[in-house]
Amino acid sequence: MTTQKARTTKLRTWFGAKATITIGPGFIHKAGLGVFLIPHPPVINWMLRLGLREDRQYTLSCTHEFGHLQSAPLALPYTVLMLALTFVTGHASLLEIILVFISTHAAWEVISEILTITSDAQLYREYYQGITIIPRIVFWISMGILTIIGWGIALSVLKL
Ligand SMILES: [Zn+2]
Repeated sequence: MTTQKARTTKLRTWFGAKATITIGPGFIHKAGLGVFLIPHPPVINWMLRLGLREDRQYTLSCTHEFGHLQSAPLALPYTVLMLALTFVTGHASLLEIILVFISTHAAWEVISEILTITSDAQLYREYYQGITIIPRIVFWISMGILTIIGWGIALSVLKL
């Protein structure tokens, strides 16, 4: 989704931090806590929201970005733990470390989209009525596989 002007939403996370989500201008999203905003190309949101009306794309993209911030206290320790497990033996190759890092981000995408769905499941269903399911299938399969690849690498490096 590309927007002419930036639209900013401010919300409070369950752990009390002030979350800021800015969509646009153009093809850029910014999300973060307090003054720490991370600009990023919204690749996942773009794919998941294909075919939706612009206002619905905005609503779900915002909810998804907020999901990242809400789940950060879970996702960040998970990333550190997965990388620590991969590093600890000293057997992991650079490629394996990169794949584990990518897989932890994939897991974070899965968590954020689950939070997007569960924030209002009825609305989510309503929005996607008549919209092709293919991008969402690609999302769930690819993110699921990437997450599992990370576990596989961590376990194989640990020789479990
Ligand atoms: Zn995301």
